[in-house]
Amino acid sequence: MALDGRVAIVTGGAKGIGYAIARRFLHDGARVVIADSDEKAGNVAAEELADLGDVVAVSCNVAERLHVHNLLAAAFDRFGDVDILVNNAGIVDKANFLELDEADFSRVLDVNLKGAFLCAQAVARHLVEKVKQGRPAGAVVNVSSVNAVLAVPDQVAYSISKGGLNQLTKVMALSLAPYGIRVNGIGPGSIMTDLLKGVVDDEVAMQRLMSRTPLGRIGEPREIAAIASFLASDEASYVTGQTVYADGGCLP
Ligand code: NAD
Repeated sequence: MALDGRVAIVTGGAKGIGYAIARRFLHDGARVVIADSDEKAGNVAAEELADLGDVVAVSCNVAERLHVHNLLAAAFDRFGDVDILVNNAGIVDKANFLELDEADFSRVLDVNLKGAFLCAQAVARHLVEKVKQGRPAGAVVNVSSVNAVLAVPDQVAYSISKGGLNQLTKVMALSLAPYGIRVNGIGPGSIMTDLLKGVVDDEVAMQRLMSRTPLGRIGEPREIAAIASFLASDEASYVTGQTVYADGGCLP
């Protein structure tokens, strides 16, 4: 199987896209750490997925350095290693540029960008040490968004955070290429999750989404999980620094 024996941390893995990635990774032979700030949902997810393989939930707010430190400690404690990180935890704002307040700006940037950086740096330091010991390099996958390149006027902080995440992908890919560690991103379009339901909460908003989606439908979390599995696996051994958009044709 594509991810046989690998240890993968999936942030925000309790629900939505992260849950689908955790499920797919288990199916593909990985051992999975679900890292989520919603402790209860994380535990429920790990219980639901336990039949598929070795999975554990760790309560973690990715925006807190100490939580990230404890997350890695928990992963080593349970599995003795980490090979793959999926930076998937994310939140969204719903304010336009003139109304967005500082607290909301910081909240979104803290989770979507700083949180991704904290997790990525902690895991990357470990992966570099592994390579220096002659062990196989791992991979990082950042879950970005079409909003990284498609400015959406009422998701200002979100769009900025995802634009930054794309640059994190590129900077990390260049910095870690000498070690053979690959870093890629996924840019989902509209995927059916609680996050989407919170933003697209009426018929007008849904019509607007559909009008910019040539495939004419909302995507499923498993359609993102399939790409995450590919990018994390050796099948993508010559791919690094890329963000793959899965958006029903939304981006030109
Ligand atoms: P979701 O709200 O369904 O799930 C997000 C998960 O992240 C939840 O389990 C939540 O508890 C967890 N989380 C939130 N803040 C956290 C934190 N500080 N630390 C750890 N965990 C935290 O959302 P989703 O739609 O599955 O989104 C997952 C990722 O996909 C996000 O990065 C989002 O920006 C991205 N994305 C989603 C869509 C979409 O249409 N659903 C589109 C583009 C990109």
